[in-house]
Amino acid sequence: MPSKFYITTPIYYVNARPHIGHAYTTIACDAIARRQRMLGSDTFFLTGTDEHGQKIERSAAEAGITPQQLTDRIAGEFRGLWDRMNISYDDFIRTTEPRHKRGVQEMFRRIRDNGHIYKGSYSGQYCVFDELYVDATGAGAPCPECGRPTETVKEENYFFKLSAFEDTLLKLYTERPDFIRPETRRNEVMAFVRGGLRDLSISRTTIKWGIPVPDDPRHVIYVWLDALSNYCTAIGFGSPDKKDQQKFARYWPADVHMIGKEIVRFHCVYWPAFLMAAGLPLPKSIVAHGWLLFEESKMSKSRGNIVRAETVIDVLGNDALRYFLLREVVFGQDGSFSFDALVQRYNSDLANDLGNLASRTLAMITRYFRGEMPYPSSVVSRTPADDAIARTAEAAIASYASLWDDFQFSRALEAAWSLVAAVNKYIVDNEPWAVAEKDDEGSRARLATILYTAAEALRIVTALAHAAIPESTARIWEQLGLGDISRFRLTDLKWGQSQHGTKLGKVEPVFPRADKSAIERMQQMEQQRTTTQAAPIAPAATTGPSPTTPAMVTPAPAAPGPAAAAADGRISIDDFAKVEMRVGQVKAAEKVKGADKLLRLEVDIGTEVRQVVAGIAEAYAPESLIGRKVVLVVNLQPRKLRGLESNAMIVAASVGDKGLPVLAGFLEDVPVGARLK
Ligand SMILES: [Zn+2]
Repeated sequence: MPSKFYITTPIYYVNARPHIGHAYTTIACDAIARRQRMLGSDTFFLTGTDEHGQKIERSAAEAGITPQQLTDRIAGEFRGLWDRMNISYDDFIRTTEPRHKRGVQEMFRRIRDNGHIYKGSYSGQYCVFDELYVDATGAGAPCPECGRPTETVKEENYFFKLSAFEDTLLKLYTERPDFIRPETRRNEVMAFVRGGLRDLSISRTTIKWGIPVPDDPRHVIYVWLDALSNYCTAIGFGSPDKKDQQKFARYWPADVHMIGKEIVRFHCVYWPAFLMAAGLPLPKSIVAHGWLLFEESKMSKSRGNIVRAETVIDVLGNDALRYFLLREVVFGQDGSFSFDALVQRYNSDLANDLGNLASRTLAMITRYFRGEMPYPSSVVSRTPADDAIARTAEAAIASYASLWDDFQFSRALEAAWSLVAAVNKYIVDNEPWAVAEKDDEGSRARLATILYTAAEALRIVTALAHAAIPESTARIWEQLGLGDISRFRLTDLKWGQSQHGTKLGKVEPVFPRADKSAIERMQQMEQQRTTTQAAPIAPAATTGPSPTTPAMVTPAPAAPGPAAAAADGRISIDDFAKVEMRVGQVKAAEKVKGADKLLRLEVDIGTEVRQVVAGIAEAYAPESLIGRKVVLVVNLQPRKLRGLESNAMIVAASVGDKGLPVLAGFLEDVPVGARLK
């Protein structure tokens, strides 16, 4: 029987619509769950919505609908978003479901029957926002947690003997250092518990929208006891059904409760105390991530700078968002989100690094080996560089696993991408396109080894990155001719598994490069949304005139005048200024049929991709140009060559008697779209 793995997101409170912060937590869990499935674990991934409490009751009243109508609507939005994002959850629990209600009442009964609940009365200040009794005196005194005005209440409550668990909890944190992660959160929790725990009121008589206390329905159960119990009720706790009981026995305790740092206390103090009181085993670890800031400030309703995940996935796709969040944010710490950083990361790591590795490797195997994986000789035409790539790949597999298991997603992906960088360099150094020009047997064997090495490294990166970016890696896997990636077992992954003769699938680009208009589109989408929702303050980044795209059209005919050529043939600076030259990057290249000298190129110039027909085929193999930065005159009138429209001119030196072209380039790295002047 395979080992089980049970992971949960927090259940999201339905007083707000889903935003990118929720998506971040859910993506992290999804990636962990996917990797566990690839390792062969019997994985159960739970998410859901928290739907009770006074805040919901009041929001619904303000909106003129019933609490159930409100929660149905928002829970539907969460579920709909996860489905669009291809989140691989196994179950979605709502705390208004009968199975949850039944389980929570069973939890209450067990804790009570074990002697940890007593009836008492409370009078003091209550914070509706935090659903907490707080230490504050006087009507309207500010809540020490959130600063909002508190309400004075006096009511009879059931109390949980939390104070009795102080020593047991401290012992738990000490004996199981991995129970709370990361370390900083563990230290905070320990300090909080050492400061002393007071008994916790776990029922309310002032609220109707909740689960009634068993045998005393005037009371409803405190929202946190209700909400936290979802982790058990979703997998069958409290059900009379035998199958449900077996399911609970199989998956409980949870392996990972993933949470945001703002709910650490509830999960790390109250939840284990409730479980111990009920006589249930404790989760293996509670992992708290940091906050996602928007351009360095906390996203909040009042700032109006909450970004929706939909905006990003509509424009760049699910994997772009997933990769950015997992790669850019150091897990556990606060991370910053911005559209600029997102597009930059996407273009450099996915469109350039991985995308170019895939497209040129697969294109060359298609061209030189009729789309079949070549045979790499272990002796003939072998160089130390080939073995170095194999060693780098083995090292990447090992470090990826240990970093990922330690929740260091960013560093794990960095390890995988160090292999991508090494292979891209290997391809440039070994020039397979030049080797392919030679006809002898040794060169043919050499070419086979180079392309096998590149394809094998690509396969390994694809398998490693699948949990993080599932959609694009599934496509690369198919293009490698390997079928359905979800059937691949990561435990088997090692160098040299590609089979000679494997027929590649249909090769096509997986990561189209994002241009500047992608940022503008996302900003506009967010702006429209904030306008339609009439948020009080719109974020600076999405208001005001949006930067205009530099004009890339042919300028109007120049008026005659001082710019006319002088008698000695020199031109004025104004004449030169009419020529618009920009840095472009080659995305695709192929020979033009029936024309020995011509290549058809697709060149990204920062704002768009242009088709260019250039007479450089005698000097450059098409594959050698992919990813290369070139200089283009972008404001020439289009012209047709062999029936193909050329929409720019590539700048090259003409060398020797034959006038062989040598492309202009740069010693320093220059951004695509930069103007030469
Ligand atoms: Zn508060």
